[in-house]
Amino acid sequence: MTQSFDDKGFATRGVRAGQIRTPEGEHSEPIFPTSSYVFDSAEHAAARFSGEEPGNIYSRFTNPTVRTFEQRLAALEGGESAVATSSGMSAILSTFMALLAAGDHVVSSQSVFGTTRVLFDKYLSKFGIETDYVDLTNIEDWKRAIKPNTKALFLETPSNPMNEIADLAALSALAKANDCLLIVDNCFCTPALQQPLALGADIVVHSATKYIDGQGRCVGGAVVGDAKLVGQEVYGFLRTAGPTMSPFNAWTFLKGLETLELRMNAHSASALALATWLEQQPQVTKVFYAGLPSHPQHELAKKQQSAFSGLIAFEVKGGKEGAWKLVNATEWLSITANLGDTKTSITHPATTTHGRISPEARLASGISDGLLRISVGLENVEDIQADLQRGLDLL
Ligand SMILES: *Cc1c(COP(=O)(O)O)cnc(C)c1O
Repeated sequence: MTQSFDDKGFATRGVRAGQIRTPEGEHSEPIFPTSSYVFDSAEHAAARFSGEEPGNIYSRFTNPTVRTFEQRLAALEGGESAVATSSGMSAILSTFMALLAAGDHVVSSQSVFGTTRVLFDKYLSKFGIETDYVDLTNIEDWKRAIKPNTKALFLETPSNPMNEIADLAALSALAKANDCLLIVDNCFCTPALQQPLALGADIVVHSATKYIDGQGRCVGGAVVGDAKLVGQEVYGFLRTAGPTMSPFNAWTFLKGLETLELRMNAHSASALALATWLEQQPQVTKVFYAGLPSHPQHELAKKQQSAFSGLIAFEVKGGKEGAWKLVNATEWLSITANLGDTKTSITHPATTTHGRISPEARLASGISDGLLRISVGLENVEDIQADLQRGLDLL
């Protein structure tokens, strides 16, 4: 039996929800590395298989360590059900495979993870699901794109790397009025900073690979929502198609949830300090961070989020040459496109994450040649500043 912590605070749920204590009396959560489960008798096996008696059969369906992670994440997002997946991409795939069908239409923000766009354009389209893209922040654009067969609105907020903010309450009202689902990728804020279900979203998806792990160790994902859409429909796809999470990864992620709120607040505090400092540097022409009062959607971000997470985009003088100089002058910042790690990373989006997009489309979404993205880690912020200062001095 797992105890309910639903009436407790966020930090308490993060540490305690979903734990199953075995007769061994272990304090920390156990890992159950087993593919299958045994039954007491033929009758017992038959009852499990018929669904007459709930319980484990096979780890593609359920696993106690994975369930602990799912229940803990559901408790944090305020959802009835969560299902864990092998990656963030399989969380998105599973959601769409379970809930949409040929002939359905999706309206997506244009500012979503690049691979998500590939999934929509190259693969879901093969099965007759069409996607149109809109400007994340322009509600009129969303309205215009909705068709009679639109079944889902999909977005990330804040967006990566530009830190644009979607008005979740307004989009939820729009989705409801048009009888479609609002699906939010909550990767950048995590439930520690933003809970889209409470703002009217129907489904939250996660790449647990990022802040939920928070230490760059495992790839995983999750879908959170109500007991029918997620607990039955998405779960049904997952147990059939098989992109399930391994118990080892689930254990890493559920331990990640125990420190999630502390980490997200620390990432956010350092990012705000760094963004404020960057804004004052003469070699920096623009800073995109929703925590800055100069950000055009600062007020909306404050309303929806308790802090602003760890991703900053900023533009330096000198275009690509200037940006590369700064990247190459760093001594220890990680030059990698990964994000949501204890280790601060620096990326030049125009030649990496957004390199395959046409220059016109890239510029339309604000990704200029001089733009850099930082995922602020948990090192001392003065040390991060000093490593960036080296490059700024060359510009
Ligand atoms: C990384 C990422 C994904 C994909 O997650 P994986 O775990 O790499 O499959 C999806 N959405 C966002 C916003 C991401 O940053």
